[in-house]
Amino acid sequence: MYVDRMRFPFTKVLSASLPALLFFACSSVEISHNTVPLPSHHLPNGHFENTDDSCPPIRDTMEADSLVPKFRTRMYRLPIVRGNEELWQDSTASSAAWIGHSTYYILWRGYGILTDPMFSTYSSPIQLVGPKRGTPPGRSLDSLPNVNLVIVSHDHYDHLDRTSIVKIFNRWNNVKFAVPLKVAAILESWGIPSKNIIELDWWESAVAGPLKLTFVPAHHTSRRGIFASSAKSTLWGGWILERPTEDSLHTTKMWFGGDLAMGDGSYYKEIAERFAPIDVSFLPIGSYKPSRYTRVHASPRQAAQLHLLTKSKLSLAMHWGTFGFVYDRLEDPPKDLARARKELGIPDTAFYVPKHGEIVPLFR
Ligand SMILES: [Zn+2]
Ligand SMILES: [Zn+2]
Repeated sequence: MYVDRMRFPFTKVLSASLPALLFFACSSVEISHNTVPLPSHHLPNGHFENTDDSCPPIRDTMEADSLVPKFRTRMYRLPIVRGNEELWQDSTASSAAWIGHSTYYILWRGYGILTDPMFSTYSSPIQLVGPKRGTPPGRSLDSLPNVNLVIVSHDHYDHLDRTSIVKIFNRWNNVKFAVPLKVAAILESWGIPSKNIIELDWWESAVAGPLKLTFVPAHHTSRRGIFASSAKSTLWGGWILERPTEDSLHTTKMWFGGDLAMGDGSYYKEIAERFAPIDVSFLPIGSYKPSRYTRVHASPRQAAQLHLLTKSKLSLAMHWGTFGFVYDRLEDPPKDLARARKELGIPDTAFYVPKHGEIVPLFR
């Protein structure tokens, strides 16, 4: 489905039932409102579920439990780098700056995009407790040239941060927020107008500025708040961003994976079938130890496999080195990724791990 859908429920109802209405109108059959089956990832109670088979945790690889340190890594600070700022002055250039965790600032020929913006100190509903940031944001929100679009993968606190969202809206009033199904209500409760929000289901598309956005599946989960009942009450996923090249002869594609586990791999196989080769992928490489966490997070090796599966020309790492809420040792994700790259024959430059604040030129 290709719709420029803002958050109006009637548009959704109309887009879902229009083919059915047309069919019934043509065949003079009485319209029934209960004939459209729910997509398989929609549960009757309004919640969502992964529909692929989840694989058992991996135990036979380098991510074995024996590598897990006894103590949870609480906080650490990695170096923040500077350089390549001239790419932000050049409207013909494209670049991606790693702010930290899953936050990238992508400047795509002048069009500014933030992924899962997280600039706060705590990944928590209260800014005094919870997982604390070890490495500060690699770039401040105020230093970014312009933000036209924010893409959000799901409602976990380390990916959807109220303070960051509100600050972005207050600074750039026309910014669009692209969010998964049922996440728009959260933004609206923070004062973001519905006209600024694009809310999509898996495989739905919309237009934002010069881009076509498609919300794609990921094997993960969602939850906000202390009550277990909120688990999976909003959808999760990743984003494909497409834009014609300057000469309009080709389409450049980016994949922001969000938070994802491999599952049985079928979601990513379908993403590859529909969109490969992908020009730039943003893939998570952290939070995979002990191995039971690979039910919700990809290991570096699995991220490398996804890089190959989607024929990504360049992958950039994320979801590590920022918050100390997991059991990976600080050096584990890049080290394990380096090993996976070597074993799978991926050049170091093709699956790159930027430093905090680093601005990476794209489409070289
Ligand atoms: Zn998550
Ligand atoms: Zn996460």
